[in-house]
Amino acid sequence: MKSKSVIVIGAGIGGITAAIHLAQRGLKVTIFEKNSHAGGRCDRFSRDGHHFDAGPTLLVMPLLYEAEFAALGTSMQEVLDLQRVDPTYHLVFDDGSQLALTSDMKSLYEQLEAFQPGSFGGLLRYMDEGRRHYEVGMAKLVHRDFRKASDFFKLSHIPLVYQLKPLVNHYHNMSAYFDDPRLKSAFTFQDVYMGLSPFDAPATFSMMPYTELAHGVWYPRGGMYSIVEALVELARSAGVEFEFDASVARIEVNGDRARGVVLTDGRSFRADTVLANADLPYVYDELLPHSRESDRLKRKRFSCSVISFFWGVDKVYPQLPPHTLFLADDYRDNFKSIIRDLDLPANPSLYVHAPARLHPAMAPEGQDTVIAIVPVGHMRENGEQAQQSCGQDWATMRDQAREHVFRRLKILGITDLDSHLKFEVNYTPLSWRKRYNLMKGSTHGLCHNLTQLGYFRPHNRHSQIKNLYFVGASTHPGTGMPTAMVSGRHAAQRIVDELFVP
Ligand SMILES: Cc1cc2nc3c(=O)[nH]c(=O)nc-3n(C[C@H](O)[C@H](O)[C@H](O)COP(=O)(O)OP(=O)(O)OC[C@H]3O[C@@H](n4cnc5c(N)ncnc54)[C@H](O)[C@@H]3O)c2cc1C
Repeated sequence: MKSKSVIVIGAGIGGITAAIHLAQRGLKVTIFEKNSHAGGRCDRFSRDGHHFDAGPTLLVMPLLYEAEFAALGTSMQEVLDLQRVDPTYHLVFDDGSQLALTSDMKSLYEQLEAFQPGSFGGLLRYMDEGRRHYEVGMAKLVHRDFRKASDFFKLSHIPLVYQLKPLVNHYHNMSAYFDDPRLKSAFTFQDVYMGLSPFDAPATFSMMPYTELAHGVWYPRGGMYSIVEALVELARSAGVEFEFDASVARIEVNGDRARGVVLTDGRSFRADTVLANADLPYVYDELLPHSRESDRLKRKRFSCSVISFFWGVDKVYPQLPPHTLFLADDYRDNFKSIIRDLDLPANPSLYVHAPARLHPAMAPEGQDTVIAIVPVGHMRENGEQAQQSCGQDWATMRDQAREHVFRRLKILGITDLDSHLKFEVNYTPLSWRKRYNLMKGSTHGLCHNLTQLGYFRPHNRHSQIKNLYFVGASTHPGTGMPTAMVSGRHAAQRIVDELFVP
């Protein structure tokens, strides 16, 4: 019997994962990717012997990766050469105080007690809550696929309101554990990964600092892109075909069926099922006939964006740890500026990554590779032309962001980075939109506020076009590399469950 065929639009983590599951079940799978290589946001590039992870730099939630690689028939340990990063982050505050988040409990105890006497006890209680949120959240939300309302709204879910604190504000909740505002920010800044301000986020997200400390932050040798390489190898051996430099212009729809895709070069391809891994709001806006749903999606809340700098440096800065976070005193204003005003904060919190501390081959000998990421609001309008008229001058914001990085590095005694740059590559929200078709240049897609979570997040099948499915960050369960793998498994399972139903 001729096997059923699936076209996947986009070779991001979610798309490749779904493709592997489908091919392993005997389906004929072809991935069309607009770029010249796989990975999507989990991208990399090299220049003059300096190697950069262009998107993700942190392997967090290792248990999720472990489970998802196992579901693909392999083991994470087999395909990735992992080292634990400990301390995970070095936090640097505006007053010069520093905190190394480490699983070494004696060191953590001494550091926390120096910030605020008695705060270590607060951390232990907070971690206990984070553990509960992680365990319940994974079991009841992340690993569940909410295909219909009754999968979500059921009596057995009522206790979740108490177990996960979805209605309690995350930052407000911190007062139960810490008084010192630096400690409150040290254990809530991770909300920005969800595209949220801790002042808006549900306390549920204490699961993030918990997993980072309890399960660790890891680094795959060779950088985050080695996860993409591992997935591509699994895909090829399962029989998945990749077509690169193949940008889909539209999805062909006839009534309630997707027929296939038409590429920008005019070629068209048919399939029994289409699975879109490209950012979901973009797919509705640009690849499907106009609908009320596409207008509705554009009005949803998007996560923030970032301005990223990639620097090749002609000397080594040994005082720069692998992951450094500069957390601003005006923490609340930072989030207001990014999330409400869609702007660059006056004194932004920012992140600096030095991958050669973890793997010396990431820079030539005697030199350094430095990545700086400055969170910023997403584009007010999606179109490039509209940028000036809506008051977002990205070139100016980029230059201001660069100065903020240089200024902050001085706290660590790094005063001359600007005069040791061999080259700079930078990305603004315009770059994120152009490279990966991310709506409004939002790096994490639709944000994860209560009304865009679980059953309320876009589902992984189109409501009217019955053989069109979705996978990736703007679908359930949401942003992040391991969650994209979960999303790939959910989408593939649903396709298999429904493909043979007439
Ligand atoms: C700066 C940054 C830092 C991050 N840091 C972390 C981190 O440290 N840890 C972590 O876990 N996660 C992190 N993330 C999030 C993580 O990268 C994403 O959630 C995840 O990679 C999204 O995968 P996805 O399946 O949604 O696919 P995407 O990465 O969105 O891939 C979709 C693919 O579709 C392609 N495409 C789009 N339109 C078309 C078209 N018309 N035709 C053909 N192909 C098309 C795109 O080119 C892309 O390759 C970060 C993201 C960014 C941007």
